[in-house]
Order: sequence, then structure tokens, then C-alpha cells
Amino acid sequence: MSRDPRYDLLFEPIRLGPVVARNRFFQVPHCNGMGYAMPQAHAAMREVKAEGGWAVVSTEECEIHPTGDVSPYVEARLWDDADIPALSLMCDKVHAHGSLAAIELAHNGPTASNLYSREVGLAPSHQPQSAGHPHQARMMSKRDIADFRGWHRAAALRAKRAGFDIVYVYAAHDLSLPMHFLQRRRNQRIDEYGGSLENRVRLLRELVEDTKDAVGDRCAVALRFATEEFLGDEGVSVDGEAREIVQMLADLPDLWDVNVSAWHNDSAPSRYSNEGSQEPFIDWVKKVTTKPVVGVGRFTSPDTMASQLSRGVLDMIGAARPSIADPFLPRKIEEGRIEDIRECIGCNICVSGDLTHTPIRCTQNPTMGEEWRKGWHPERIAPRRTDERVLIIGAGPAGLEAARALGQRGYDVHLAEATRELGGRVSREARLPGLQQWARVRDWRVGQIERMANVSVYRESSMGADDAIEFGAGHVVVATGCNWRRDGFGRSNSAIKGFGEFRAYTPDDLMDGEIPPGPVLLFDDDGYYYGSVLAEMLRAAGRDVTFVTPAESPAPWTANTLEFPHIQKRLREVGVEIVAAHNLVEFDNEQATLVDVWSGRKRIIDCASVLSITSRLPNDELFQNLAARESEWGPAGIKSVHLIGDALAPGAIVHAIYAGHRVARELDEIATGAPAFRRPIAGPTT
Ligand code: ADP
Ligand code: SF4
Repeated sequence: MSRDPRYDLLFEPIRLGPVVARNRFFQVPHCNGMGYAMPQAHAAMREVKAEGGWAVVSTEECEIHPTGDVSPYVEARLWDDADIPALSLMCDKVHAHGSLAAIELAHNGPTASNLYSREVGLAPSHQPQSAGHPHQARMMSKRDIADFRGWHRAAALRAKRAGFDIVYVYAAHDLSLPMHFLQRRRNQRIDEYGGSLENRVRLLRELVEDTKDAVGDRCAVALRFATEEFLGDEGVSVDGEAREIVQMLADLPDLWDVNVSAWHNDSAPSRYSNEGSQEPFIDWVKKVTTKPVVGVGRFTSPDTMASQLSRGVLDMIGAARPSIADPFLPRKIEEGRIEDIRECIGCNICVSGDLTHTPIRCTQNPTMGEEWRKGWHPERIAPRRTDERVLIIGAGPAGLEAARALGQRGYDVHLAEATRELGGRVSREARLPGLQQWARVRDWRVGQIERMANVSVYRESSMGADDAIEFGAGHVVVATGCNWRRDGFGRSNSAIKGFGEFRAYTPDDLMDGEIPPGPVLLFDDDGYYYGSVLAEMLRAAGRDVTFVTPAESPAPWTANTLEFPHIQKRLREVGVEIVAAHNLVEFDNEQATLVDVWSGRKRIIDCASVLSITSRLPNDELFQNLAARESEWGPAGIKSVHLIGDALAPGAIVHAIYAGHRVARELDEIATGAPAFRRPIAGPTT
């Protein structure tokens, strides 16, 4: 197959200063939790993007000096020459596929912690460290500014030596000194670097000029600039100074990379923003500069991408998340395989890698972060080693992914699902407010399976142990999911008094279509997205909702997925009453007894029902029955039985997809007892 001519414009080369990108697909800088600590894993991950057709593949932000140490986050690093080889590795791998390598030089100023380096932080003016650490960054003197320019220049030269083709000056996400100098709220200087806009832009201008002077002969210089901070006059804004800033620097960089700030607005979850939602904030930039413009918008539809180019909004399609969910997205468009694109669902699990200082993971793409350490490739998988048939029970995300990947390996796969609908929890959760795009997890897999002659799907086929044994497959994979507990067991309680006598509703009840009578006391002891989503659902159904959580605020884990600020805002907007730092200890069908987690003080709240979100229990009865009958496996031809996904240990959808993929990769592997993956070993060096 070849590509649809409507998408030809996405494949036209484009000049960026001294270099040429082979097409319009640009993997913009994105964090990944591997950075300087895992250079091989990082390089392998970036290589897959280049192989998949991204004309430009960027690093994450790259620290240029120990005064801008962002620990505990693990990003790229170019403090001195010793850091060059790790980044050369990435450049070589990206170049091997004909793509350009870009690096985002960064000094995080007052947003850097310097917890590792123990250097005193730098800022336009004296100010507290932004993440709440108990120290301040100091105001930079003119000497410091000159030093900073020197460090940036030295880092640019090192980047060039490492092999990069594009060097970024970074003024976005409220995470870099040149942006901090632009902001009135952070810049209180009275010298030529503060006050008027021209003065506040001075450092940014100097950095672009310095970088062009240092490496511009061979490298394009990109300027990443946030046009909107959503802070009114306190920040950079489209209605304020953003246009003037772009006008002042219009043709100075070789490329503009424009977005919105802070990170939770730029990488907004799909619950709160749609594809292309940054357009109103950046569509004017191309009218101000003659240089190419790249921007992002969680683009997964080639029609939307082509439209961005043909309407003159962008010159290049920027992507972080769509390139994570599908590193081969450009190649699939080029080869006319649109239906094979694994579309990002906007869950931001990828972000959680960076924010928990661990390698990146993706709900849609289970190979993300595993390219080097497990040798997993997003498109290729080993052919089957045996002729065994495989029976998979349960078509939730775990079962679907196992069926898809085993099907791809060429196995004769039989997928049995108790209900009429495929997708399990994904189908159920995608009907909840804001989660519609999560259905893509199901849809992509079902679409792939439907085209595999060697995968048979049996709906409305509830399987028992007898059925599984009689089926006589060589391998059985049990992916039967889990259920929410009704007894209140969770992080805070072993049981909640009254729950045995009076019915507490669970998320399963609401997903089954029940709406509890109001007012509803929603007790969230889980801390991820369910509480906030179900609270919204109940408000939409007209129920008064009191959101009780033992945590200090609703949905604490969503800080790792950038949903947190959006959730807090939305809960208040829709009129949910929030009672934080309280545990639910008793419910008598009319009143709930809460206890302040710090003082132990009791508080009574009137309510007609309780929605209890505490923990889940695996639905593993079938597996246990099969395990009890192991003596019958041999005669039935069964070689192995595997319990995976939520039926083994409930988790997020990302865990279920990974479990399904893993069992498919490892089903016929001979266990050696060795660790399941490679890891970088730190050795003694001088
Ligand atoms: P996971 O996230 O681990 O994939 P889900 O709960 O999403 O788990 O999906 C489990 C699926 O298994 C559901 O669609 C459910 O209907 C199905 N299922 C559960 N028990 C059986 C069974 N005995 N036979 C067939 N399908 C089953
Ligand atoms: Fe998209 Fe979620 Fe994958 Fe991130 S983890 S790329 S948001 S599907």
C-alpha cells in the first residue's frame, strides 16, 4: 500500500537553517525518566522513533550546569565533556535512520532543586525554590548572567560535538531561566535585564544569538517558546506580551517550537483537552515569522495534521505523546496503514515515569521504555516457537493484548469473553465522563485482531474450569479481571462499620448503570482517577456529593499524570464538597462518621448513600479451580496456565496491557532464572 495523496504535504522535506528535515514529523523534546542515568535505554527508545519515520527526534530537557540540577528528575545532562558520549549514542542511532537529532538545552533557574549538586540556585531576582524545597534561588548578578551565557554556549558546542543537528534555546513550561526573565512575576530587576519588555527579552535574544554564533554553521537553532501561561498579566500571554516577544525575535531562530505552559496545560490529559486544542494560542506565530513553526496538540489523525499544514497553522507536526504511543506513526501514514496507528489516549501514564523518576511507560505501547532492556520493538515480535493452540479467557485489555500479540506471533489463538462486548474495564470506563478516548485501547486491538485469520473470538462465552480443560489448548491465559470491594478494605481501613448491614455502592455499580440516592458521600481511599470521574458523573445526575478522602486533597496520585490541577478545578466548578484528611469509619444508612486523620476528631455527615472506592479483589476463581486440577492438565494437553492482569493483581490499564504483552512475548521462553531485563551497571571509574 502507498500513502493517500492527501497526506503528501506531510512528507515534503523542509529546510531548518543549515539542515533539512526529510518530512514534517517532529518528535519534540519529552522527558522519559531514563536520561543521563540510562543512556543505552534512552538511545534505543529514540532510535525506534527515527526508524518509525520521525524526521526530527529530540532529547528531553538537558541540564547545562550543576546550578541547574533538576534532581530527583532524571533528564539529559551536558555539564562537561564527560557527558558527550552518552548523547552521541543517541545521535548515532537517530542518524542511522536518516533523521535529525535535536537537543533541548535547559537551565531551570529557580525551578531546579540542586538537591544533588548542592549549588545555590539562580534566578532573575531572589525567590523561593519553585517546588517547595526550603531554600531560595539568588538573584543573578551581571557576572552570573555572563557566566550563564558562557555555560549555554559551551553546552551548545558540546551538543554539536555529540552530533546534534538542532540545538534548542528553551523558554517554555515555566522551567527555564530565559523564560523566567520574561515573566514580570519572577523578574524584579531594575537593570537592563528587567523592567521593560525589551529588557526582559534581552537574555533570550542573547542566548539565541550566542547559540547561532557558536554552532549555527552546522546546527539549526530552535527557540521553544510558551505563548500562554493562563496567568493573565502575571505571565506570558497571547493577549499580553507573547506577540510582541515573537515580533522582537521573529526571524532570529531557525525554527520556532511554540506551545502553552505549564506542563499540565501543554500535555493536558484527554479528559480536559482535545486534539489540536493549542491552535488558538499559536496559530498567529506563522504570520509573524518567516521561519518554520512546529507545535503540538496530541495529533493522531493524519487529516488533522494535514489540515494544520494546509491552513498555515504549522510547518511541522510536533508530537511527544503520539510518538510514544506509536513510534511508527509517520511510517504508517506513509505506507497507507492509517488503521494500524496506535492512537494515544491522553492518560499521561507516560508522564508518570518522569515524575516518579523511573523509565517511561505507555498504556497503549507496552514496548515503550523496554526497547533496550528487554529488546522489545513496537512493531516486531518473534514468530511462534511451537504449534500449540492458546486459549485466552477474558477480553479486557490484558486478554486483548495477549491475543493480539500472540496472533502477531502466528499462534492459533482463541479468545473467550463472557459478555457480548469486548474491552472489559476499558469499555466500562470509557463511558465515564471525559474518558471516551480511552476506548482506543480496545478499538486498536480489536481492529488488529479482526484482521488476523489465526485469532478466533468467542463472545458471550463464559468459561469454567471444565470448559478450559475440555478445550485442550496447549496454553491457557486467564485474564478475568477484578471487582471493587464492598467491605471498605483499603489503605485506611480493614473494614468499615455498617458496610455489611447497609449497602455501600462501588464503582462497578455505577458502571453497571446504578445511580445511588443523594446526597452521596463518596469515600475515595484509592487516590487515582476514579473518585474524581465518578464525582463528576454523580453531579451530572443531579446528586449532591461530598468527596471524603484520607489524603490531603482528592486524587493525589494524579499529580504524576498532570491531571491533578485540572481535577481540583473541575471538582470545585461542578460543586463537589471536599472533605480532605478524613477517614470514613462508619455508615448507618443515614449518617456517615468521619475521623480527622491527624486529630482523631469525629465528624458526622448526613447522606443517603455511600460510594466506596477503596480497593479491588481479583476475579481469579477460574484460575484457582484450574490450579486445583493440575493433574488433569497433562492428559488434556495443557502445558501451562497463566494468570495475568487485574485477575492477578488489580492495577491501572497500563499494567493490564503490559501483562498481556509480556505473556505473549514470554509464553514459549525457557525460564533461566536470570533477571527479566538488562540494566546499566554502574562500575567504579576514576
Ligand atoms: P484486565 O484489565 O485484566 O484485562 P478486565 O476486567 O478489563 O481485566 O477484563 C476481564 C474480562 O474477562 C471481562 O470482559 C470479563 O467479562 C471477562 N471474564 C471474566 N470471567 C470470565 C470467564 N469465566 N469467561 C470468560 N470471560 C470472563
Ligand atoms: Fe498517550 Fe497514555 Fe501512552 Fe502517554 S501513556 S503516550 S498519554 S497513551
